[in-house]
Parts: sequence; C-alpha cells; structure tokens
Amino acid sequence: MASKIKYLMVDRELCIGAASCVAVYPEVFQMDDENKAVILQKGDLKTSEKTDVDLLEVSAVDDDTLMLAAQSCPTLAIYLYDEAGTQMYP
Ligand code: SF4
Repeated sequence: MASKIKYLMVDRELCIGAASCVAVYPEVFQMDDENKAVILQKGDLKTSEKTDVDLLEVSAVDDDTLMLAAQSCPTLAIYLYDEAGTQMYP
C-alpha cells in the first residue's frame, strides 16, 4: 500500500450488519444496537462518521488489518482515506 490510511468511515445506509469488519478488526469496529458498525474511539466514543485514525481507541493502527476489514465488507460500506483525504477504498 503506497499511502497510509488516515481516515475511516462507515456508511450506515450501506451497512447490513454482516459484522465481518468486527471479526477482522474488533479493536476498531463494533456493532451498535441498530446492528450497524461503529468505530471505537478514545474515551469510549463510538461513531460511524469520518474519523481520524489518531482518535481510535487502538493505539497502533494496523493499516493492513484495516484494509482487510474494509475489503471483508460485503456491501463496501467501509471507506478509507489517506492524509490528503483521497479515497483509498473502495
Ligand atoms: S462488514 Fe460492512 S456490512 Fe458488515 S458490519 Fe461491517 S460495515 Fe457493516
């Protein structure tokens, strides 16, 4: 992977609750009570909005695992962006 992942987001409209992202990277993704994936942030915050990787609860974010989690999503609901905000996936 050329550039580093800087932001991630879950499109709640697209998420069908398949939970494969949670299976791949449970330190970053969790299901909420609407059965949609949320991103785990520091301070017990959870969001589906575009999130800076520096705000994630997990301290050392593994880009490959994050990419695998996004790729595992059957509806391509997980968006990844680089530092410049350019979409890296899907
Ligand atoms: S893998 Fe995709 S559809 Fe499944 S919970 Fe995660 S974001 Fe939602």
